[in-house]
Amino acid sequence: MNYKEALQLNIFSTISKAATELQLETYVIGGFVRDFLLKRGDAKDIDVVAVGSGIELAKKVASLLPNKPKVQVFKNYGTAMIKTKEIEVEFVGARKESYERGSRNPAVEDGTLQDDQNRRDFSINAMALSLNEATFGDLLDPFNGLQDLEDKRIVTPLDPDITYSDDPLRMMRAIRFATQLDFKIDPVSLEAITRNADRIKIISKERIVVELNKILMSSKPSIGFILLEKTQLLPHILPELVALKGIDEIEGQKHKDNFYHSLEVVDNICPNTDNVWLRWAALLHDIGKAPTKRFSKKVGWTFHGHEFVGGKMAYKLFKRLRMPLNEKVKFVQKMVMMSSRPIVLSQDGVTDSAVRRLVFDAGDHVEDLMTLCEADITTKNPRKFEKYHNNFKVVREKIVEVEERDHVRNFQPPVSGEEIMKTFNLKPSREIGIIKHAIKEAILEGEIPNEYEAAHAYMITKGKELGLVENTEK
Ligand code: ATP
Repeated sequence: MNYKEALQLNIFSTISKAATELQLETYVIGGFVRDFLLKRGDAKDIDVVAVGSGIELAKKVASLLPNKPKVQVFKNYGTAMIKTKEIEVEFVGARKESYERGSRNPAVEDGTLQDDQNRRDFSINAMALSLNEATFGDLLDPFNGLQDLEDKRIVTPLDPDITYSDDPLRMMRAIRFATQLDFKIDPVSLEAITRNADRIKIISKERIVVELNKILMSSKPSIGFILLEKTQLLPHILPELVALKGIDEIEGQKHKDNFYHSLEVVDNICPNTDNVWLRWAALLHDIGKAPTKRFSKKVGWTFHGHEFVGGKMAYKLFKRLRMPLNEKVKFVQKMVMMSSRPIVLSQDGVTDSAVRRLVFDAGDHVEDLMTLCEADITTKNPRKFEKYHNNFKVVREKIVEVEERDHVRNFQPPVSGEEIMKTFNLKPSREIGIIKHAIKEAILEGEIPNEYEAAHAYMITKGKELGLVENTEK
């Protein structure tokens, strides 16, 4: 079969020309070919394999391009890269790989195209298109990847036990592709992943997180997390989530399965946000429920303080997985810790002061928090579903209203500590803190507006109550 139409970018004819000049067999392979056949948008990463030196080919290609781009050479890997504004082309020599048990870095020797296709992870990732003049656009598909694309199957080219054991990252990749493409992992492969699950230990946390993020960024992440659980990979990666699995029943009282609930929340949030950190927050919002679960005859199942415990756990989890410990983890923690606030608020009555406090505490993240809470509505009772959504709609409207009037988002005290000190002739002292706090509380409670004049007057009153004397000298 010929797919010349996949190779319309100028870069392909240039590569073809360079290959002819160097007399190198050359192909485009992997993700680009797969995504073209899936009509999955224009791929920006192009992998080119040459039977010979990929580096030499890259240099030749660059010399033939009008703007003579720079070639980045990675000598240790035998690869070279040309980047333009639109695309990134990576050149590699065809290779044969052999693995040792303790490492996912194989011994490498030069090989044929067939050798190179054998080392690929899945049949759908092993397809190549010829860039050679005489056969330009011909598909080379030794493992029938085309059929697997049609059947929506993830299959390894060789024995899956060997494929996964050689490079256990492929287990994560299989699950990630199944999630992104909504494909089924071949049952034999699925068994092999389960058998080799504990080999994931040799993979760096950073690489695992790359795959987790890709799973989270697909349109239905639950597919991936269910597969990670089913194959026993999840206990190695996110044991906190596994601990949420299951339903306990005592004296006829049950709680929900918080593992599947969490996955439903992640799926729910996807159409409403592309922020991967908010998706992480959705995944982790209930992790504090496992360690805080209690049963009492009086009230049944409770998870007191799970939000706070969950926030702490989220930090530890990020640290363990070597994820960023900057404002990203702080955001996730904040979302987890505040995840019940809008619910409590809508139950207790959506008063102005409660909404002001919510906006004050959540700051710029208040909309994200509402998005999380809306996704958290997983009731199957249509009446309740509508009621809860309506409650949150009221909260959202009230947020806008209160915001327009009171501006408490990213609250800055209208009267500074310095001014308090000057007004009452004070040195740095406890009283300043007391007055500042009182002003903030009065604003949040709606006793005074969030304005200088009112806050100034309130400061004078408060100071007098504390027995302070106003400085009348100007
Ligand atoms: P995406 O861009 O969505 O991650 P991709 O298939 O292009 O998909 P890359 O990681 O860029 O993913 O890999 C390019 C190609 O290299 C793959 O299509 C596959 O043929 C091969 N490959 C990548 N990682 C592995 C691996 N761990 N084992 C075997 N082959 C791999």
